[in-house]
This record gives sequence, structure tokens and C-alpha cells, in this order.
Amino acid sequence: MGKGNLSKIDNLGRVVIPKSIRKALNIEHNDEISMYVDGESLVINKGYRVCTLCGSKVIKHQIGAKFLCDKCVKNIKDL
Ligand SMILES: [Zn+2]
Repeated sequence: MGKGNLSKIDNLGRVVIPKSIRKALNIEHNDEISMYVDGESLVINKGYRVCTLCGSKVIKHQIGAKFLCDKCVKNIKDL
């Protein structure tokens, strides 16, 4: 990503995702995105966050860029 992808956040907290990025990720009008903070970065993903192991949409834990649900964390603890 070059400096051509600078955007400003408006007074309602909205930001425009540049067309080139939407095209690269195949994101279209009304698509769902999810976002999270990773260190100093805002990471935006297409679609919902899902548990890395089981696909559950009820995310309670994050390790780096991976998400885990309570059930899978419990399973890991019981190993
Ligand atoms: Zn899970």
C-alpha cells in the first residue's frame, strides 16, 4: 500500500475504503466487514470474525490475528 491510500475519518467516525482496496478484496456495497486492533494497526477483514478452530461467530479471545471462542479455549486448556 502506498501513500495513495490515505483517508480521513469524518466527524461520525466513518472512513472511506479506497476503491482500489475494495476491488483488491472483492468488497462490494453492503458487504459485512469486521475489524480489530493489532498493536498500532487497524485490521479490517471481509466478513465476520470467526473462531479459527470451529468457525463459531461468538468470539471471546484474540491471539495476534487469530480469534477463538470460549469452547475452543476450554478444549485447549483441557489438553
Ligand atoms: Zn471455536
